Amino acid sequence: MIPKTITRDHVLQAIANILAEGVPKKRKSTKFGLIHDGQSYPPKLVLSLAAKYAYGEELTTTEFSGGVESNVFLERLGFQIESNWEDWSWKECYFAVWGYDQLNLEPGQVKKALYREISQLIGRNAGSIYYKIRNVASFDPRPSGEKPMAEAKNAQILLGEVYQWYWDDRSKARDFYNQYRDEFLFVLDSTTNAKPNLSPTQTLTIIEEGGTNTSPASRRKRSQKLLNEGRRYFRGLHKDGRLQCQACGFSTPDGLDFEVIQLHHTNPIYESDVAGRRILLLDALKSLVPLCPTCHALAHTSRPPLSVQAIKKLRESLQTYSVNK
Ligand SMILES: [Zn+2]
Repeated sequence: MIPKTITRDHVLQAIANILAEGVPKKRKSTKFGLIHDGQSYPPKLVLSLAAKYAYGEELTTTEFSGGVESNVFLERLGFQIESNWEDWSWKECYFAVWGYDQLNLEPGQVKKALYREISQLIGRNAGSIYYKIRNVASFDPRPSGEKPMAEAKNAQILLGEVYQWYWDDRSKARDFYNQYRDEFLFVLDSTTNAKPNLSPTQTLTIIEEGGTNTSPASRRKRSQKLLNEGRRYFRGLHKDGRLQCQACGFSTPDGLDFEVIQLHHTNPIYESDVAGRRILLLDALKSLVPLCPTCHALAHTSRPPLSVQAIKKLRESLQTYSVNK
């Protein structure tokens, strides 16, 4: 059990601690990462340390479980968790388990409509949702007519974890449906007539990254869409509607009709060539940081790129250097 006395501040202290001291080899996470300021941290280590700031003692790894328990706890405190797996994320697994539950609750339910509903939410095709929901059956101890389909073992592990978590408190887990649905809501694309008027933070679209079509034209088109949405999103965050460098605070001066501030990808995954990778636009937006050209260049002096905090430090040290000169 994770003590409820752990607050967002305790987690931020833990993150600062890890940033300063690094991650011990044994505590690296292969499955999930807590994304903060463009860096990925092992969720379980973060919570262990956060406990120290909450009540003076680290949580040992046996006192709570990684995966769903840690992820739900951290997300409730407003943190972003990403799956390191290319298979279904645990939230997508949630919808498979939820769908399975729905079919059990309403055996007469039209399956195709259910698959379509989930498909529209998470952006995977109805066929793979059918496949996944059938696999949920393998965790159900009750006898069932349908046999689960074969699937890679590690993908099964995550689905199993989600299933256990869901059934631990089924009615509460069902309530998460609305919350997760809102997070997955996506805007119909421009090929339809529907043009919902959503706020920037609600602009959720599923975009396809790094498909098989790698012609320069289609690539430009793709990043242009993200760039436009990104600019709109970050302008919406500021009172004066301007883009601002997150590292040094620079904004494009008035009177210039050319936007100087660039959008930097903190997560190289969005530049990868993984075939057919589907990414929620909101997640892609979260991986963008507005930076001025100088700070952007500094970010790319290292691989993976420097975090915003590291750029700030670097700029401070450069300033000191030039003043002393
Ligand atoms: Zn800057």
